[in-house]
Amino acid sequence: MRKIAVLGSTGSIGTQTLEVAREQGDLEIVALSCGGNIKLVEEQMREFRPKLVSVWSEEDAATLRTRTKDLNIPVASGMNGLLEVATIPESEILVTAIVGMLGIRPTIAAIEAGKNIALANKETLVTAGHIIMPLARKYNVAILPVDSEHSAIFQSLQGEDGNKISKILLTASGGPFRGRTRDELVNIQVEDALKHPNWAMGRKITIDSSTLVNKGLEVMEAKWLFDVDLDRIQVVVHPQSVIHSAVEYEDGAVIAQLGTPDMRLPIQYALYYPERRPLSGKRLDLFALSNLTFEEPDIKTFKGLALAYEAMTRGGNIPVAYNAANEKAVALFLNRQIKYLEITDIIEETMNQTGFIENPTLEQILATEQEAYEFIGSRW
Ligand code: NDP
Repeated sequence: MRKIAVLGSTGSIGTQTLEVAREQGDLEIVALSCGGNIKLVEEQMREFRPKLVSVWSEEDAATLRTRTKDLNIPVASGMNGLLEVATIPESEILVTAIVGMLGIRPTIAAIEAGKNIALANKETLVTAGHIIMPLARKYNVAILPVDSEHSAIFQSLQGEDGNKISKILLTASGGPFRGRTRDELVNIQVEDALKHPNWAMGRKITIDSSTLVNKGLEVMEAKWLFDVDLDRIQVVVHPQSVIHSAVEYEDGAVIAQLGTPDMRLPIQYALYYPERRPLSGKRLDLFALSNLTFEEPDIKTFKGLALAYEAMTRGGNIPVAYNAANEKAVALFLNRQIKYLEITDIIEETMNQTGFIENPTLEQILATEQEAYEFIGSRW
């Protein structure tokens, strides 16, 4: 039995991780955590009988303890709870399916406790990749990508040790507003932006996909995961989402991973790596595909992608400013407090007013996040 702990078990990636566990039958779920969805986490506790659960507020933790008294499962709360789940001695792998920079500290703690990381929480790598990757090497733990594009790249790298990569082709669906002009995006409403053409995901990443900020975060994530220069990561808009990403080698060979859009595959690959397991669901039918198309991203309309390249090129704590500003701006948009195009305006202005720190410590990363929030709070 492989033993896993899950941060964010009630979300899109978290619930699909539990589906994989249900279908495979030989994963032991030793710890679970969520924000405030105590109804769902209670169901998960009853089904999987973990040894520890954590929720965000102490008030929810108290309610959950009362409701699940019969189970005798400890319920922790707050950041300490996340850290306990991340480092629970019984686990071998931590699935980081929590959203946002909240994942940084638990991910670091899990690595220091020797856990392999099945990483969905890209915001952690974007903002603290310079800490996470060397730490993982030091503790000899694997960072296994769950993001479908990064899993595709990882799969395309198997058996190629020592061979030189000439570029990574990071595919993007282009989101629901592909082909539109900036003028046509002025009045986009929350409901429009929450309709992703190919994937059903959590609210924040769905908005990020529509602005192409998600692709920007993925470029930074790929740089850290695969240690390639930024100018070797090319974003390719491929609206059918059949090719999940590819690697071009120096002899010109392009190795890609293709499939139907189903996040359970990359989750399962990360959990059982290097083994492949059977997976139920639709198979790719090449005869049913009439055309696969590819185009360059429109970075003038979707400036979130251009800003990501700029943030990563400037380096230091600027990706932190980029990410923190986006987290805040998306929350404001979802609360209908700002207009759609202001999301990337906020990112740009926050990046421009951030004092540069070359090699930020964890404290400086969190301070940059805080400063970004204060700046945005004072302006919007
Ligand atoms: P969701 O919004 O669906 O889920 C987020 C999870 O985090 C929920 O379980 C939520 O709990 C939990 N959470 C939120 N706030 C807190 C908190 N304060 N303390 C503890 N837990 C908290 O997100 P996704 O599953 O879509 O995304 C998760 C991560 O995976 C993101 O970083 C995303 O970019 C990445 N990712 C997602 C993909 C997808 O297909 N969804 C694909 C690739 C990457 P609660 O439900 O209780 O609020």
